[in-house]
Amino acid sequence: MDFVHTTLGQRVLFGSGKAAIHVAGEVRRLSAGRIMVVASSRHEHLAETVCRNLDVAHWFDQVVQHVPVETVAAARAAAADHGVDLLLSVGGGSAVGLAKAIALTTGLPIIAVPTTYAGSEATNVWGTAAQRTKTTGVDDRVLPASVVYDATLTLSLPAGLSVASGLNSLAHCIDSLWAPNADPINLALALEGARALTQALPRITRDPQSLEAREHALYACYLAAVAFGSAGSGLHHKICHVLGGMYNLPHAETHATVLPHVLAFNAPAVPELAARLAASLGRPAVAGDEPAESAVAALGSFRDAVDAPRRLADYGFSATDIPDAVDRIRQVAPPSNPRPVTADSLTALLTNALTGTAPAPHSRLGSRLN
Ligand code: NAD
Repeated sequence: MDFVHTTLGQRVLFGSGKAAIHVAGEVRRLSAGRIMVVASSRHEHLAETVCRNLDVAHWFDQVVQHVPVETVAAARAAAADHGVDLLLSVGGGSAVGLAKAIALTTGLPIIAVPTTYAGSEATNVWGTAAQRTKTTGVDDRVLPASVVYDATLTLSLPAGLSVASGLNSLAHCIDSLWAPNADPINLALALEGARALTQALPRITRDPQSLEAREHALYACYLAAVAFGSAGSGLHHKICHVLGGMYNLPHAETHATVLPHVLAFNAPAVPELAARLAASLGRPAVAGDEPAESAVAALGSFRDAVDAPRRLADYGFSATDIPDAVDRIRQVAPPSNPRPVTADSLTALLTNALTGTAPAPHSRLGSRLN
């Protein structure tokens, strides 16, 4: 083994029904006095639950998906106007993403209280959107100082959104297998994250009020995000960032839809990893099975079980968008991807994702390898 791994410094407090207590403790530990809450007005009740033991200096509730730069400017101005010394995000990736954008230029500490499975709270990755382009970067200033997980705050996340968000998290696990800084430590986190998600999400679809299943999903999404934060953005994330930025597609649903196609594309080039992934997804390869086929089939069965999103066409993407998207993705695709990313292969991948055509079966996977 020969690798360099950085473990990011962050406190994680986990406990159902304990968010308000845990947040108040972290505010004291960080010696903060002027808190700005970043939470969408749609989830005011969740934010009020979390803040019941706090004096809040300012509530910022304009939370918009993909973190548009106009919203960032307004939020930074509000933080300055109110003399804020701590940011408290309550919500999904959009709320913590906005808090990160403020921290990027101010260095303000963040306490993140996630209410989806996006996992942004555990990474030092920020992202903003302007002029149909999503810009992302890595900066330790945006890593939340503390993450407070409280599964009761996720009980209201509808089953469909839970599935899409959970598949966003699974994409962190799977893309970590071949991302530029993949290493054995984030592999271990990614595989355990995938295992736990595979068990938790079907339980949530059957019983969205299962607190235990919600806890396991949060546990999994944290592992997945730590793996992703360390391994970096692989091909899957590059594709989804281009689609999200250029066409304003919904983040979690886009990840959920594109994931099986990227797995089918890359898996034949990494058979050992594919075999380990298949086992984590609950379908260990048996003698004679091709590992790539097992991994693709395992993800397919899991997606069937949770009725995963299938077609980019359902979210506003169309066939006429494919050539521009292919051009942009080729500019950002990681050179270290286990297979060369050609215009033809990307066109085929996006066409299948657009229409919901099942990823190629094994025989064709093998023949597409170059
Ligand atoms: P989101 O925060 O926009 O939430 C998705 C939807 O769920 C919204 O409509 C929201 O109102 C609703 N919602 C959230 N919590 C809820 C709850 N408890 N009950 C009911 N509804 C609830 O989207 P997301 O998918 O969580 O995050 C996407 C954003 O996060 C994107 O901007 C993406 O780029 C970013 N992200 C960043 C990273 C990173 O490491 N930087 C990782 C993952 C995602």
